[in-house]
Amino acid sequence: MVSPPYGTGDAPLQPAEPFEKFSPPLANGERAAEPGPPFPLRLPPKAPVFGSPPVEEQPKNVDPLVLELVNTKIVERGPPVQWTDIAGQVSVKAAIEEELVWPILRPGAYTGASRLPRTILLFGPRGTGKTLLSRCISTQLGSTLLKLSGTTLLSTWKAEAEKILQTVFFVASCRQPAVVLITEAESLLVARAGEDGSQVGNLKSQLLSYLDNVATSSEQNVVIIGTTSRPGSMDEASHRRFTKRFYISPPDSIARRQILHHALAQQSSCLSEREMASLVQHTESFSGSELVQLCQHAGATTLHGLPGQIQPTSYQDFEKAFCKVRPATSQKELDLFLEWDKMYGTRH
Ligand code: ADP
Repeated sequence: MVSPPYGTGDAPLQPAEPFEKFSPPLANGERAAEPGPPFPLRLPPKAPVFGSPPVEEQPKNVDPLVLELVNTKIVERGPPVQWTDIAGQVSVKAAIEEELVWPILRPGAYTGASRLPRTILLFGPRGTGKTLLSRCISTQLGSTLLKLSGTTLLSTWKAEAEKILQTVFFVASCRQPAVVLITEAESLLVARAGEDGSQVGNLKSQLLSYLDNVATSSEQNVVIIGTTSRPGSMDEASHRRFTKRFYISPPDSIARRQILHHALAQQSSCLSEREMASLVQHTESFSGSELVQLCQHAGATTLHGLPGQIQPTSYQDFEKAFCKVRPATSQKELDLFLEWDKMYGTRH
């Protein structure tokens, strides 16, 4: 394992970590200068990132309207995300960096490139940072990111779903290096789909063949990341198509403190160290996004005072916020994730 630049795992509860170790992305596409990757590497030359792919490379059956939709709604143009923007997940981040990112950035240093992992599944409760981590992988690879939600494909874009999926991979191959992120991947890889020649069945076989192509082709600089909060609804043949499967758990105590600390830094607050420790203790099994919501609710209650007198967020505000924000994932569900991880997850 590489020694990660972002702190260690489950050490006992400490006073606030030096916070420069965790700096989530700024809003509005802006961010402060980052120190860059923790290794002296240059990114490979990038394919042109935006604009339509060269006309001569377009297969005859690419529908210009679908191409436009992919370029505007699926190609992502969000702010870059660094490893340090993700609190916790220390060993998963280290494994992904070492086994996926580095080999792609310096292929010459690795032999047997065709066996390098280029397909990964991130599974875990909603709001635990799977999308954030995928964005980070894309940033580290200097790649184009195409983000497609399985459920949106099957609902909003149902009529053109097959064409869209095909065009996503066409654009990815034109804009290499590229990361194709399929969120709610289980909706496309649901068990038993494909047995009846239904649309989901067609999409499933289409996606499975892209997974096979990407996994076996050493020439393509395309990575597929699937994310899911319902790994159990996929059949084994599908989830095993992902070379690596990582459990993204709710944040541990250190990560919760970092997320809370960062969210509170956006507002004025007056919590003592003891109160912060109590918050960390009372938020076990909250996801990262639930912690952010909790702070937002606590902050919102302070706005109800006299006009012009914004009170700093206090521990009492959190007591009220706890009535509104509760963890959506039960302990029983978390146990099921752990069980699934034991059976199918990649050790790291
Ligand atoms: P998922 O894809 O697992 O549903 P997201 O990546 O969309 O979750 O996370 C939603 C938001 O929650 C993020 O944008 C971030 O604000 C916050 N968040 C979740 N996990 C973390 C984490 N580990 N570190 C920092 N922020 C996090």
